[in-house]
Amino acid sequence: MKIVLATKNRHKYSEMKDILNEIDIEFICAADIKDLPDVDEDQTTIEGNAIKKAVEISRYTGLPALADDTGFFVDALNDEPGVFAARYAGENCSYQDNVNKLLKNLGDQSNRKARFETVVALVNPDGQIVSVKKGQINGVVTEIPQGNSGFGYDPIFQPEGFDKTFAELTDAEKNQISHRARAFQAIIPDLKTLK
Ligand code: IMP
Repeated sequence: MKIVLATKNRHKYSEMKDILNEIDIEFICAADIKDLPDVDEDQTTIEGNAIKKAVEISRYTGLPALADDTGFFVDALNDEPGVFAARYAGENCSYQDNVNKLLKNLGDQSNRKARFETVVALVNPDGQIVSVKKGQINGVVTEIPQGNSGFGYDPIFQPEGFDKTFAELTDAEKNQISHRARAFQAIIPDLKTLK
């Protein structure tokens, strides 16, 4: 059994494979599929984007596809940047631009609650949705960026129960608790039903 993991980002691909390593399935990285068109992530929810990616890739490849989408939701900013986490500071912005904009918009707000949510969608080769699962982690936005590992908003997100940001945790520590890990773990039983 082969399944396409719908990301062209090698770092995310290897993170997903690590999380799913208990399953006896051959995973293919979307980056290794010749001429695979980019999917426009134009939906207004992370569910919508995850399903759209999985459906388009399974139709193109004729294989089952597993796709995820993540949002970053900040309480005091009315859940912004939300589904637009990647492009918060504009098209082609850097992770640093997004972090700077978020810290500026949050200012000295005392409510610094935030959460990451990932939705993962599993779709059949005929484009039918098999399963959709969500993973979430709650935490707070720190006053200043701390730590050098990870990516995105990691330097300013301190998960509940920790005194370090995601960027100060090792990959292994983050993968134990992250939104993405929780969503992928939740879909493992459904992956096992694919034959
Ligand atoms: P994606 O759907 O996984 O591509 O995530 C969309 C955006 O959310 C990324 O470009 C990052 O800005 C942010 N993001 C997703 N996952 C993480 C994470 O684990 N840590 C920090 N930022 C993340």
